[in-house]
Amino acid sequence: MNIDLSYLVSTMKHLIDTPSPVGYYDAIKPVIESYAAELGYTVTYDNRDTAYITVEGHDTSKTVCISAHADTLGFMVRGINPDGTLRLRAVGGINFANVEGENVTVHTRGGQTFTGMLVCAHHSAHAFDDAKTMERNENTVFVLLDQHVKTAEAVRALGIRNGDYVAIVPRFTVTDNGYIKCRFIDDKAAMACSFAALKYMAENRLKPKYNTVFAFSFYEEIGLGGIYVPAEISEYVAVDIAILGPDSDGSEQTVTICAKDASMPYDYGLTNRLIAAAERAGCRYAVDLFYRYGSDASQAIKGGNNLRAAAFGMGVYSSHGVERAHVEGIENTVKLMLSYVLEG
Ligand SMILES: [Zn+2]
Repeated sequence: MNIDLSYLVSTMKHLIDTPSPVGYYDAIKPVIESYAAELGYTVTYDNRDTAYITVEGHDTSKTVCISAHADTLGFMVRGINPDGTLRLRAVGGINFANVEGENVTVHTRGGQTFTGMLVCAHHSAHAFDDAKTMERNENTVFVLLDQHVKTAEAVRALGIRNGDYVAIVPRFTVTDNGYIKCRFIDDKAAMACSFAALKYMAENRLKPKYNTVFAFSFYEEIGLGGIYVPAEISEYVAVDIAILGPDSDGSEQTVTICAKDASMPYDYGLTNRLIAAAERAGCRYAVDLFYRYGSDASQAIKGGNNLRAAAFGMGVYSSHGVERAHVEGIENTVKLMLSYVLEG
């Protein structure tokens, strides 16, 4: 399999650079639609705006799903301090200890954007005794807007309100030897894998073995992405980051098949078929248990859907922070995806 790696990396960068904190789908839906249209596919949506690209299979009696979540960690404005800084609530599992100093963009519901920076209330060791020791959390980390505003009224006059989304600027970096460092590799790397697989199938005029739905959900980071699944789907494979921890066999170079997450073992037979598909594809792979982890697939089971669930993905270091992956692991993820989709 000859995967177009420059397409894979540029698509990933474009998706990562498009803000989509949990539930904020407006900016990224047109991007999904344009990548699909470029390859000759159309996008449909359910009422939760989960995006679906459906590809007819040789055997139309069965439908399988490849899911990559389109949402990322982020924030909403919850209040405005008297000095004009913004108080936040996290959407998804933000680690406040690693966001200080990051640039952000505020997206107002009126369609304006404003840049700012995440700062700690006691931001400077020159000015505060406890700048180094103050715990960074929802009550101590604020947005300092890049505007001449010193009062809450001045901020409201800009058009910023409670309930506006705040997205972290992800800082996409790729090194000469293939390391990718930035936020939101989770799960934009997997979205890019789906488009690379769709491109491979379109260019080589290949049909999946079964009807295959490529899904992009918007609520995975809060445990609700896969909770609704269209009734015709009987196998649901989440493609999401693989956790690298003390027990992992996987690495940034492998695709890792998840045998069990925090809440459940994944379907025994389907997981075994993914292992067989990885062997067939000749890709570097591992099998691991992901500890404090869930995916669209386990969410689909919890939602009461009648399906077999499984998951795999590229090894990602420092997940939910500034993450690191490698092009080789992402390429191996596309190869496993294609092997499963084309041969079952
Ligand atoms: Zn994820």
